[in-house]
Amino acid sequence: MPLPPLTNPAQVPEQVKSICIFCGAGTGGDPIYVEHAKEVGAALAKNKYNLVYGGGSVGIMGAVAQAVLDEGGHVRGVVPDPLLRHGSKQIATTIDVVPDMHTRKKTMDAHSDAFVVFPGGFGTMEEMLEMVTWSQLNVHSKPIILVNTKGYFSLFVQWVQLMIDEKFVAAGNRDIFVVCDTADQVLEALKTYKAPETRYGLDWIKSDPIKM
Ligand code: AMP
Repeated sequence: MPLPPLTNPAQVPEQVKSICIFCGAGTGGDPIYVEHAKEVGAALAKNKYNLVYGGGSVGIMGAVAQAVLDEGGHVRGVVPDPLLRHGSKQIATTIDVVPDMHTRKKTMDAHSDAFVVFPGGFGTMEEMLEMVTWSQLNVHSKPIILVNTKGYFSLFVQWVQLMIDEKFVAAGNRDIFVVCDTADQVLEALKTYKAPETRYGLDWIKSDPIKM
């Protein structure tokens, strides 16, 4: 069945000011993951982007947040109450304590204009893919940028190509996300991103997709 026409052709997002990051609560096994995350985080802060993140001091998430703070940037941590009570330590200038993971993601989305994804595990992939799915459904048109440290996302890109080849994903929707190898490429992608026109033309203005 053909996709419905675009009713909200806003493929170019508002100017990006705040960036939500998704990344591992672990550091990975190679120091390059933390080093590269710090480098990209510092570049974001130097370019005056605010940070929105999951609030923890651990792993890649803590490394990026600390790098942004060290550059004098603003960091909003959004942490679920159970994680806080479990001992999660925050690196942030503003902290939102929310009741659960769903509220956290909704809050992170509400406070950000773009998503930058660093290497991580199940949590990172789940968060990234939900935002890719929301873009596919035209819930948002925000840039989604993958930081491909050490080629970490290259197998994911191959998997997406398989989804396209097997006709589970529209070919144009590959461009919902952009893969970057360097901090400069991330900065460039934040300025030039254009969401693909192959996305669904659904109109979410009067409804809350999360409740459906
Ligand atoms: P993963 O990619 O599986 O390491 O999951 C990363 C996600 O785990 C983060 O984005 C957070 O949602 C969550 N998380 C795990 N530990 C913590 C922590 N100590 N503080 C805050 N969030 C955490």
